[in-house]
Amino acid sequence: MSAIRKLLIANRGEIALRIMRSAREMGIRTVAVFSEADRAAPHVRYADEAVCVGPPPSAQSYLQMDVIIAAAQATGADAIHPGYGFLSENAVFARKVREAGLIFVGPSAESIEMMGSKIAAKQAARRMNVPLVPGVDEAITDRNAAKGIAAEVGYPVLIKASAGGGGKGMRVVPSEADFDEQLDRAVSEAVASFGDGSVFIEKYITSPKHIEIQVLGDQHGNIVHLFERECSIQRRHQKVVEEAPSAVLTPAIREAMGQCAVDVARACGYYGAGTVEFIVDENLDFYFLEMNTRLQVEHPVTELITGVDLVKEMIRVAEGQVLPFRQEDLSIRGHAIEIRVCAEDPRNQFLPDVGTLRTYRRPQGNGVRVDDGVEEGMDIPIYYDPMIAKLITYAATREEAAQKMVRAIDEYHISGVQTTLPFCRFAMQHEAFLSGRFDTRFVSLYFTPEVLDEAPDADEEALAAFLAARFWESGKAATAKAPVRTSVSKWKQNRS
Ligand code: ADP
Ligand code: ADP
Ligand code: MG
Repeated sequence: MSAIRKLLIANRGEIALRIMRSAREMGIRTVAVFSEADRAAPHVRYADEAVCVGPPPSAQSYLQMDVIIAAAQATGADAIHPGYGFLSENAVFARKVREAGLIFVGPSAESIEMMGSKIAAKQAARRMNVPLVPGVDEAITDRNAAKGIAAEVGYPVLIKASAGGGGKGMRVVPSEADFDEQLDRAVSEAVASFGDGSVFIEKYITSPKHIEIQVLGDQHGNIVHLFERECSIQRRHQKVVEEAPSAVLTPAIREAMGQCAVDVARACGYYGAGTVEFIVDENLDFYFLEMNTRLQVEHPVTELITGVDLVKEMIRVAEGQVLPFRQEDLSIRGHAIEIRVCAEDPRNQFLPDVGTLRTYRRPQGNGVRVDDGVEEGMDIPIYYDPMIAKLITYAATREEAAQKMVRAIDEYHISGVQTTLPFCRFAMQHEAFLSGRFDTRFVSLYFTPEVLDEAPDADEEALAAFLAARFWESGKAATAKAPVRTSVSKWKQNRS
C-alpha cells in the first residue's frame, strides 16, 4: 500500500475538475497540466499547482507523455490520473508512468493493451463464453476471404478498426457491391487515425441498444459490477444521452450481463474502473462490443444510482486498498439521466461550433448535477473535444428524472455557441424515449432540425418564458420564430 498525497491530472475541462474535487475531499493535493490555450481555464485555477505542457494542439501538449511525467516529478506528485480521452487508454503511457516510479490511477499496461485491441478483446471475451456480435475476431488479411466471411455473416456488415475509438474507424457496408470501396476506406482511415490498419468484420445490427456495464476491481482479484448504463441515443456512433438504470432490462438479464462483464474484466486481470460495452437486440439478447479501460464520460449516472464515488474508488484501488464492498452490498436506488452539452449545432448535422461563451448560467436545484469546465466569457478552444459540460439529473423514478432534465435544460442559459441542449430537450420529451422503446437509430429516425422550431409546450406561460429567454439571450427584440402550433398539437397527439 502506498498512499497518494499529490495527484497530477493529465487532462483538461470538466473531467480534470471532477477528479480534482474527489482528490481534494480525500486530502490529496492536485497538480493540473495545461496547454497554452487553457492558461485561464477553471481546472488550472482549481488545482493547487499547475504546469504548462506546451502549445494548444494536443499532440504538442496533453499527449506529450514525457513532458507530463516530468511535470509530475518536478512538482513531487506521486500519481497520475489520465481521465478519459488523451492518454487514458495508452499502454505506453501507463508503463512509462510506472517506470518513472509513479502510480498510474488506472489498470495495468497489460490490461490496457489487451482491451485496446478490439480483436484481442473479442478473443478474450470468447474464451470466457461471453456472447459476441456475429462476425470474426481476427484481422482481415485477404480481401476475397473477407468477402466470403461478410457473405456468411450476412449484409449489412460493419468493417471496424481494431484500434478504433470515439465512434471513429467504422464503415457500414450495405451490400457486397460496396465491400471493396469501404474496406479500402476503413483501412486507410484506421492507419491515419490510429496508426494501425487492422480491421475486422461484424454483423451490423440494425436496431440495437447500447447498454454497458460499469466494473470496478482491486489489485487483490476482487471485481464487482455497478450495473448498467443505457447509451443508445447517439450521433456519429457517439453517445449524447445516457441513463442508469436502463428502462428495459429485467433483473435476470441485468445479472447475466453483469456477470459477463466481470468475466471479461477477469480475463484481462483488470483492476480500477472500467466499462464493458454490449449491443442489445430487440429480444434483449446481448453481445459483447468492447471494453473501455478507463473512467467513462457517463460515469456520473452510475455514481448517482449506487452512491459510489468512482474516482475515489479508483484512487483507493491505485493505492493498493481492497474494495470496500462486495457485489451483494451494491444496489440500485432511483434513476439518473445525463446529457452531453457539446458546442455543436444540432441544426447543422451536429457539427462542432466555435465561439465565445457570451452567456453561461448553470441550472441548479435538488437532483441536478452539472459537471463542467467552462465559464462565461471563455472561448471554446477549437483544439479539443467540443463537449463543454454534462448535465445530470437524479430522481426516484425515470419519469421524474426526465421531467427534471427538461426543467434544468430550460434553466441552462448558454449563448455565443450552438449546443446540443435543444436536441436533448427534444429527446427527453419524445415518446420513444419516454416509453424506453428506442435504439441507436433515435437521431436518424426522429430528429430533423425543424422539430427545434416547434414550441416546447403550447401552454401560454411556458411559451412566454420561452420567448422571453430567447429575447434576453439575443439581446435584441425577439428575432425568435413564431412557434408552429399545428406541429405542437400533432406532437401532443402522437404522444397520447
Ligand atoms: P465514452 O464511452 O466514455 O462516452 P467517448 O467514446 O465519447 O467515451 O470518448 C470520450 C473521449 O475520448 C472523447 O473525447 C473521444 O473523442 C475520446 N476518445 C475515446 N477513444 C478514443 C481513441 N481511441 N482515440 C482517440 N480519442 C478517443
Ligand atoms: P468505439 O470504440 O468507437 O466506442 P464501439 O465498438 O463501442 O466503438 O461502437 C460505438 C457505437 O457504434 C456503438 O455504441 C453502436 O452504436 C455502434 N456499433 C458498433 N458496433 C456495432 C454493430 N456491430 N452493429 C450496430 N451498431 C454498432
Ligand atoms: Mg465504445
